[in-house]
Amino acid sequence: MRSLIGNDVVFTSVIKGNAYGHGIEHLLPLAEECGVNSFAVYSADEALRAFNCRKNETTHIMIMGIVEDAAIEWAVEHEVSFYVFDNDRLEKAVNASKKTGRKARIHIQLETGFHRAGFEEDELDPAIELILKNDAFLQVDGICTHYVGAESVSNYVRIENQISKFHELYKHIEKRGIKPRYLHTACSAAVMNYPETIMDMVRVGIAQYGFWPNEETFIKNFKEKVDHPEVNLQQKITDPLKRLISWKSTVMNVKKVPPGEFVGYGNTYFTERSEILAGVPVGYSHGFSRSLSNVGHVLVHGMKVPVVGLVNMNVLMVKITDVPGEVSKGDEVVLIGNQKNESISVASFSEMSNYLNYELLTRLPEDIPRHIID
Ligand SMILES: *Cc1c(COP(=O)(O)O)cnc(C)c1O
Repeated sequence: MRSLIGNDVVFTSVIKGNAYGHGIEHLLPLAEECGVNSFAVYSADEALRAFNCRKNETTHIMIMGIVEDAAIEWAVEHEVSFYVFDNDRLEKAVNASKKTGRKARIHIQLETGFHRAGFEEDELDPAIELILKNDAFLQVDGICTHYVGAESVSNYVRIENQISKFHELYKHIEKRGIKPRYLHTACSAAVMNYPETIMDMVRVGIAQYGFWPNEETFIKNFKEKVDHPEVNLQQKITDPLKRLISWKSTVMNVKKVPPGEFVGYGNTYFTERSEILAGVPVGYSHGFSRSLSNVGHVLVHGMKVPVVGLVNMNVLMVKITDVPGEVSKGDEVVLIGNQKNESISVASFSEMSNYLNYELLTRLPEDIPRHIID
């Protein structure tokens, strides 16, 4: 990502959704060690977690979504910046600044076509008035917007319109004498697909965890490399994004099932021959979707083995009949990651289950123990 954005652009690591399932407290210090000093969350409670686990005092945290009234003062006090998209929040920011004696650091979010949150064009002038009048209490850290799906070419026209709208609105604000520190609009897919959206700062989520925003973006990147005369074969076949997360469990039990039996709830899986099954103590309550019933795979002894029957709340069964050697209780089961020469990626996972990478990752429950390994 750094090679795409250059050295002068601020890289903001997006760690909402519990750092896309990786764990805020696990990911943030690692990212700091890699030189990242700017993080974005969605809500004040996530900002508090990020704030409490940062190692570096200069690490900055930005809230892109909800800051409850009760949290604004905390944010201002701790120099946590936040989006403003209405005058109500602007006024609350000013009041919090008066109380705490610190300037509120704000990002003016512009409505450019997403229609979720952001100042509409006709709301802009009153907001500008308020900001200018309260110059002593507000620091405009950024002017920003978010695109409607930069990962898919089907949104091309809407995104091009958003880009022009953003520049048009920004010019208007600039003319009125407001000078932000950063213009920022780009998420992972925008950085990759629309370089003109990079501006002063980018907000990168999914790609920093080693996942493509979607298959289309992966294919586009791959095709650009293949078509490039100076890229060698090794570079062509190497995925530039490296997955960080692995998800592992162990064999809970091993069971022989004779031919002609249905396995588990209902009758979705029928043994046509004598089978050996292994129970794995992971179910849909842990984020392993029920839609992976009879569809998903896991790795056991380096072999891809199918999930058989329905995924239950806390357990699933896999067929290990064809795994060479003996599988025993306690053997490692890989749900995402590598084992010997095989690997299961969330991408293949999400194609199987029609999930987006985003959804699968952020559904990993917070109480699954997470360990950092080299
Ligand atoms: C989630 C989010 C991002 C990051 O998106 P990715 O596709 O994960 O890179 C950037 N900006 C905003 C406003 C977001 O909500």
